[in-house]
Amino acid sequence: MSDTDLRDTGALDASTSDGIAVVTGASRGIGAAIATRLGADGYTVAVHYGRDSAAAADVVGKITAAGGTAFSFAADLAEPDTGTAFWAAYDEAAGALRDAPVRVLVNNAGIVVNAVIEETATEDFIRQQQINATAPFLIIQAALPRLADGGRVVNVSSGATRVPIPGIIGYTMTKGALEALTLPLAQHLGPRGITVNAIRPGTTDTDMNADWLRGNPEAAAGVVAQRALRRMGGTADVGDVVALLASDDARWITGQIIDATGGERL
Ligand code: NAD
Repeated sequence: MSDTDLRDTGALDASTSDGIAVVTGASRGIGAAIATRLGADGYTVAVHYGRDSAAAADVVGKITAAGGTAFSFAADLAEPDTGTAFWAAYDEAAGALRDAPVRVLVNNAGIVVNAVIEETATEDFIRQQQINATAPFLIIQAALPRLADGGRVVNVSSGATRVPIPGIIGYTMTKGALEALTLPLAQHLGPRGITVNAIRPGTTDTDMNADWLRGNPEAAAGVVAQRALRRMGGTADVGDVVALLASDDARWITGQIIDATGGERL
């Protein structure tokens, strides 16, 4: 079913859900796991994607097949006017829901440039900074009037900010910026009852790591050996932690950076 079909059948009805949850980069990997879990928890899920509309439609289909409600929308987070463009695309796809408050915003989309400092091209460094750190800032900034009081912002950082990996130094800087955004924003939005937290996933088997992890049992074993819980992380391991932070049970947690690495190098 296309997004338009969902709108036409009136399936986009926030009154029957726990509110709207917007997840960036939700067409695959960790974002898809977050979106499907939030859909199962009763949120109407806005599945943001960059280019892969078919993958986003699959995630929407999975959520609706399980009895949930979802729609998808595209926005390139590499564009400098991300904040405005992102929400304009959202409004178009959300139809009748466009004025409904956003209860959960998950900044999950990201890219990684695998390069040590000597080999990091300036253009790659800037693009990575734009997608991973500047875009979440602009998306949150433009979302402030539409965030529900009592709502949630969850930023997806990385365990790399705690465990140094020289081969992703520029990436680590972007995640450090995302974490630095989390604390003052939690203070700023606290009076509205909005919590702002970040999570640090560890190495997870997704497309982001496909070139060095997939089909490479040695690399996987190396990751697992450094982990207290001694297994590779799945996307649901991370999605479930985000769902926890989005839930009412987490209403007293704000301004925190939650390690979700399975205990990497404790
Ligand atoms: P992934 O590559 O599978 O997914 C990344 C998502 O971001 C995709 O949906 C992609 O479309 C979206 N995205 C990338 N560039 C975009 C752009 N210009 N415009 C719009 N969307 C764009 O990766 P993943 O592993 O699912 O990563 C999700 C998040 O988790 C990222 O922020 C990543 O940094 C973080 N993370 C991942 C790992 C890991 O090991 N996989 C570890 C720690 C943190």
